[in-house]
Amino acid sequence: MNETKQESQLLADAKNIHQELIAWRRHLHQHPELGFEENDTSLFVQERLRQLGIEFQSGIGRTGVVGLIKGDEPGPTVALRADMDALPIQDAKNVPYASKIEGKAHLCGHDAHTTILLGAATLLTKNKPKKGQVKLIFQPAEEGFGGANEMIKDGVLKNPDVEIISGLHVHHTAETGFTTVCPGLSSAATDMFNLTIHGKGGHAAHPHLSVDSIAVTSEVVSALQQIVSRQVDPIAPLVITIGKIEGGYARNVIAPSVRLEGTVRTLDLQLRSEIEEKMNRVVKGICDAFGATHELEYEYGYPSVINDETLIPILQEASDTILGTGKLSLAKPSMGGEDFSYYAQQVPGIFFRLGIRNESKGTTFPLHHPMFDIDEDALPLGSAMLTQFALSALRRLENS
Ligand SMILES: [Zn+2]
Ligand SMILES: [Zn+2]
Repeated sequence: MNETKQESQLLADAKNIHQELIAWRRHLHQHPELGFEENDTSLFVQERLRQLGIEFQSGIGRTGVVGLIKGDEPGPTVALRADMDALPIQDAKNVPYASKIEGKAHLCGHDAHTTILLGAATLLTKNKPKKGQVKLIFQPAEEGFGGANEMIKDGVLKNPDVEIISGLHVHHTAETGFTTVCPGLSSAATDMFNLTIHGKGGHAAHPHLSVDSIAVTSEVVSALQQIVSRQVDPIAPLVITIGKIEGGYARNVIAPSVRLEGTVRTLDLQLRSEIEEKMNRVVKGICDAFGATHELEYEYGYPSVINDETLIPILQEASDTILGTGKLSLAKPSMGGEDFSYYAQQVPGIFFRLGIRNESKGTTFPLHHPMFDIDEDALPLGSAMLTQFALSALRRLENS
């Protein structure tokens, strides 16, 4: 078969469903659901798969859906993964498709990921693999709840056994029509902590009779950054961010305690294992100095995504075919986290970024920003890229 002809056909097919993709994405964007609550999103995905005649299972990893597109003959299995959950942030966009749900919005682009995978499902029903099959993984709860892990526990990588997996994330740092990938170690391990500083409450006018937990906390917050700058190798990246502080009652009351919530990001496993102890030591030292005490709850979250470098030529082929030559570039690791890592720990995987930046459309805001939006021209490109990747990966598995 003439590959170039078939492959440019994929892009043409994707462009033919552009309006449908936009409608799906806008529907999802207006009806965001948080992690493990994606009931309507899951039903929406199931309805599309049913219309396409694709067999699927629902309730995998609670609200996840897994579709299977079989080729003409039996063979290997390649999986494509999209996440479906939204964020607990108020949408600040003034557009007709803005979130209709107060305090919830698709500001990480997972509505686009779900749409792009539904688009790939549509393309694959028309361009079935000759041999083998493509598993479509619609995953819940990427934003901190580890939906990938739940799906793996429910057997998503088995029966048929997945041999290669890929997925994408839309990203504002790349222009529409471009894509980036980081070879090897590509995202941070993301750990979480809750820290409580206990002082002694009292009257604001008599600080000497109490222990001011807010004053102690201010020392703690800056001292934690000294771990980053003075206690670890500057070549080993570390982020300690406190994203939330709560404490106190009124202007004339000394706060008895303060609670802080934060995240720790590392790329190095050894360093990752040292941070909890370093934090305890620094916080205890400050609390001792001022007569306060502390409690640190430290929880290990997502591991780093490790992209299998042997899959980069397949991604390169997909990029060259769908986007044109010179559109894929290599990126540095990100301190962001991504639970795609759980799949990539089990089977060879590659996670790449799809450009959605378009200055003229104003799609320049970063992920998790209240104004985040995508250039919808990227939707068919994503669908065609994933489809091309799956078909090329299957061909490579057959020939290996
Ligand atoms: Zn996110
Ligand atoms: Zn995301």
